[in-house]
Amino acid sequence: MSFASDVRGELARTPMEDACCARSELTAALLCAQGIAWRGRERYAVTFTASEASTVRRYFAMLKRFYGIIGQIRALSGDTLNNNTRYQLVVPEAEALGLLQALELLEEGALFGLRALPTAETVRYSCCKKSFVRAAFTMCGAVSHPDRDYHIEIAVPSEALAAFVVAQLAAFDLEAKISTRKQKYVVYLKRAEEISDMLSLLGASKAMMAFENVRVKKEVSNRVNRQLNCDNSNINRSMNAAEAQIRDIRYIDSELGLEKLPRTLRDMAYIRANNPEMPLAELGELMDPPLGKSGVNARLRRIAAIAEKLRCGDEVRL
Ligand SMILES: [Zn+2]
Repeated sequence: MSFASDVRGELARTPMEDACCARSELTAALLCAQGIAWRGRERYAVTFTASEASTVRRYFAMLKRFYGIIGQIRALSGDTLNNNTRYQLVVPEAEALGLLQALELLEEGALFGLRALPTAETVRYSCCKKSFVRAAFTMCGAVSHPDRDYHIEIAVPSEALAAFVVAQLAAFDLEAKISTRKQKYVVYLKRAEEISDMLSLLGASKAMMAFENVRVKKEVSNRVNRQLNCDNSNINRSMNAAEAQIRDIRYIDSELGLEKLPRTLRDMAYIRANNPEMPLAELGELMDPPLGKSGVNARLRRIAAIAEKLRCGDEVRL
């Protein structure tokens, strides 16, 4: 099971207490996953399709409890190659119009009589805003395992809906961005703290703890690695000076690229690297324009300082 499906599984089990939130969740689920199809003249097919059975069971229970609707659950077998079965909850046709009315999704004069966005009333309270984002994530969301990179997203079918999701997140001080991918508008967050905050906002506290554990381990090991690199740079000092300089030059090249250095330092680096045995005064004569011994020394020290900063993970200003 992926981290994302663990999160979805946990979200499907969060309590559903209030009618206001049920309305918001069902609305988000239908709009984000395009679950409403127009069948001509006030007839609509309303379905909830999800990759986890627990998700459709949640909406089944909500429809029954808050709207008295008994839906039908069926499995849609995917292609045999991936065996990605999906699950679908079908609202009986006779109940579809009434449900859309109750969710305030009908609007006279709108395309197919349907609103493209929820009413403000739907997300009036902060509990409902959370519920909206929860369903949007459950139906159209993804989150990377923190071992890999930091990324959480909700991919929705329209730009307006993406902006609406961004606005709900903004109410909780989460500043999401929007990008596009394969005709979807992707609302995403990239910073570890924000992902953690979003998981707890959604109500996935177990997933949030798991996320934090991995994140802390990762940060500690990064810090230890940086420390080790710093210690290694102390070993440098006991080496013969020319060897240490060449080692620094190669390190800068691999981490930053020598071409990023200012010209004066770059020339110095190439000349030293190509003449490991040469005394400083002679290195100076190879420079253009030629340089005295103390000038050579100064530049090599600047190169050493840059390598040291890179090893210790400090910012390098060139
Ligand atoms: Zn609510």
